[in-house]
Amino acid sequence: MIEVKDLHKRFGKNEVLKGIDLSISDGGIFSILGPNGSGKTTLIKSILGMVIPDKGEIFVDGKSLRNNFKYRNHIDYLPQIANFPGNLKVSELIAMIKDLRSTKTPDDTRLIELFKLQPFLDKKLVNLSGGTKQKVNLVLTFMFDSPLVILDEPTSGLDPISHLRLKQLIFAEKEKGKTILVTSHILSFVEEISDEIVFLLEGKIYFKGSIAELKTQTEQPDFEHAIASILSTSYA
Ligand code: ADP
Repeated sequence: MIEVKDLHKRFGKNEVLKGIDLSISDGGIFSILGPNGSGKTTLIKSILGMVIPDKGEIFVDGKSLRNNFKYRNHIDYLPQIANFPGNLKVSELIAMIKDLRSTKTPDDTRLIELFKLQPFLDKKLVNLSGGTKQKVNLVLTFMFDSPLVILDEPTSGLDPISHLRLKQLIFAEKEKGKTILVTSHILSFVEEISDEIVFLLEGKIYFKGSIAELKTQTEQPDFEHAIASILSTSYA
């Protein structure tokens, strides 16, 4: 479904992506990992067309993204930092986003129920806690039921129950055949949900495969030590 070919991106002197080749097949949960600043968000934003690569090409369902913006209609994206207009009420924000994507039929009721957001619908966004804002962010992301879902740090600020509900939601979406791309610093979360991980290091893909394969390759007994062993090589 997603094919990334020889992707390069630099910001000034900072060469962030140095030739990424990546193939993400249809259906399943793929986690993108890597140290801070390794280019995870830059890669995600390139797939979303929010960052224009210097070189290389990305194909979604066989179609190049160059000068083609319609594919974005088939992606639901959870940004890492959601700067919502503080003066809007939650219900007004949901209505506004529905209006913007009017070609889609939203399913916000089920998600509002799932994250227990009813008591907050009449509240202004400026008055919400970080975790509640993140739940609103999740409702906005999942309500359009697109085949590709991209989640940048989805657990951010969530309490344990919402964390659990998010996992259930992600698994339910996978069952529908969706492809879900995730970045997260929470290794236990990544380990629980991922079919495959993609590890970015120094502008390249260091590893792509299952967690079991990563453990074998790094000769480590568990996921945490496997990740630590990659990082200690890069910091050495
Ligand atoms: P990650 O998501 O892995 O933490 P990012 O993709 O956010 O990494 O950033 C990779 C590097 O690119 C960082 O050094 C960051 O400062 C730089 N960078 C990202 N976006 C921009 C931008 N718009 N302008 C300049 N530098 C950027």
